Amino acid sequence: MTRTVAFVITAVLIAACAPTPPERKVIDDAAAALGGAARIQAVKTLTIEGTGTAPNAGQNRMPNDELPIWQVSEYTRTIDLANARTRVRQRREAKFLFAGALTQQLTQGLDGDIAYNTAPDGTMTRAADSVARDRRLELLQHPITIVRAALDSGAKLANVRADVNDDLVDVTTAKGDVLTLGVDRTTHLPSRVRYMSDNANMGDVAMVTTFEDYQDVSGLKLPRRITTMMDKYLQFGVQVSKNIVDGTVGDLAVPANVKAAAPPAPAPMVVTVEPVAKGIWWLAGSGNHRSIVFEFDDHLVLFEVPLNESRSKAVIDKARTLSTKPLTTAIVSHHHFDHSGGLRVAVAEALTIVTHRDNEAFFKDLLARPHTIVPDALQKNPKPATFQFVDDELTLKDKSMEVQLYHLLDNPREGTNLFAYVPRERLLVQADLYDAGWNQHPWGENVLANVERRKLRVDRDVPVHGVIEPYAQMVKTIKEKGPGAGTK
Ligand SMILES: [Zn+2]
Ligand SMILES: [Zn+2]
Repeated sequence: MTRTVAFVITAVLIAACAPTPPERKVIDDAAAALGGAARIQAVKTLTIEGTGTAPNAGQNRMPNDELPIWQVSEYTRTIDLANARTRVRQRREAKFLFAGALTQQLTQGLDGDIAYNTAPDGTMTRAADSVARDRRLELLQHPITIVRAALDSGAKLANVRADVNDDLVDVTTAKGDVLTLGVDRTTHLPSRVRYMSDNANMGDVAMVTTFEDYQDVSGLKLPRRITTMMDKYLQFGVQVSKNIVDGTVGDLAVPANVKAAAPPAPAPMVVTVEPVAKGIWWLAGSGNHRSIVFEFDDHLVLFEVPLNESRSKAVIDKARTLSTKPLTTAIVSHHHFDHSGGLRVAVAEALTIVTHRDNEAFFKDLLARPHTIVPDALQKNPKPATFQFVDDELTLKDKSMEVQLYHLLDNPREGTNLFAYVPRERLLVQADLYDAGWNQHPWGENVLANVERRKLRVDRDVPVHGVIEPYAQMVKTIKEKGPGAGTK
C-alpha cells in the first residue's frame, strides 16, 4: 500500500466516523419519521384534495375585525415531484358582502420556472416571474417537498436551534431559496415551514405553514391539516380529505406556446386627467382605482392614494403638475389594503394624512413596519407621519374650495369609510360606496341612506372605482341591481 492510498483510506475512515452535523441529523430524523429518505425520494406524484378557508387580508370592516373569507369548497393540489411541476385548482365562494362574482374558479400552475394561470374557459396565460418564485416557495410548504429539498445534495443546512417543542434548521435549497424547517422533537415529523416574503402593504412578512394530524398513506406520513399564516393573518387553511401518493395526475407540463411567451411585463402606469369642475380633477388611467384632486387657495388636496406605491406615486406626481400650489394633503378614504396602499409613499412625500380616527393604530403600525425585502420610499427615506383624524365629519374650506368629509355610518362592509361632498358643485366623491360596473349593490341602500342622513343634494358621483355619473343614474342602478345575490 502506498502512503498516498493509506492516507486517502484514513481520511475516508475519519470522515465516515465523523459525527453527523446536528442540522443534518434533524433532517435525517425527519425523513425517517416521514417514511425514510429512500421512500421520499422515490415519490413521483402527490395529490392533495380537500376544502379550505381563504381570508381576504386587509378587507375587514374595521381594522381589527375578523377577515372576510372565501370558503374553498373544492381544493386539489397535484404535484409532479420529479419534474418540479404543480397545479392548484380551487372553487371558492365569497362568505361576505361582495360586489363582484361570488363564486370563483381558480387554476394556477407552475412548471419549473414558468408560472401560469388557466381561465375557466381553458385559456392559459403565463404569469410573472415573481409569481413563479412565490409558487416555488408555496410548493415547499409541504413536509415531503421541503424534506426532499433539504435532502438534495445541492441544499445547505445551517443554524440548528431549539424552539419550544421543535428543532429549527435553516434550509437553503439548491435553487437558493431560504426557508426554516421546524421538526417536532418527539415525533420528528415536520411541524412547520417558514420563509420571509414581501407584502406591498405590510412589507416584510413571515409566511408560516404548519402541518398537523398526520396519517399513514402508502408508506409515508402526510398531514391532513395544512395552515398558512401571513404574519398575524390566516392566509390559507386546508382540511385534507384525501392524500394520494403516485396517483395519476395527468400532464402538468406547461404548453410550449405558453412557455415560449415572454413573462408579462408590468404595463406602463398611465394617469389621465379629467377636469370635473373648477379646481377639481379626476385622475384615472391604468386600472380601476382613481384619485381626485381639489385646489384650495394655496394648496392641493388629493382624495385617495390607492393600490400601491407605484400607482400612488404616479398620481402624486401628476397632481403636482396641475398647479403651482403645493400638494400638502392626502385623504385616505378607508383602511382596506387597496385603498391604503399609498399611505407609506404619501408620508414619504410629506403629505398630511386625513383619515378616520379608527384607522390610527392600524396606519401607525403599517408605517412602522420594516420593508427591507423590497425597500419602498418610506424605508429608504423615513419620515414622521402627520395625521388629521376625522370622527364624524370634517370640513376643509377656504375661499376657493369647500370639501365636506363624512363618516359612512352603519355600513355592513365599510366601518372606517370617509366620503366627500362638494357643496358648490353638488359632487359626491367616494370609494367603495358604488361602482357602476359592480354585479350587485349589497350595501347600496345604506349609501343612499347616508346621503339622505347628511342632507346632501348630490348631482354627480365622482368615484374612486368606475365612471363619473349623474347621481340619478347611480340611484337607479342601486334600486335595479339592489342587494341581489350579494346578500346571501
Ligand atoms: Zn373598501
Ligand atoms: Zn375598493
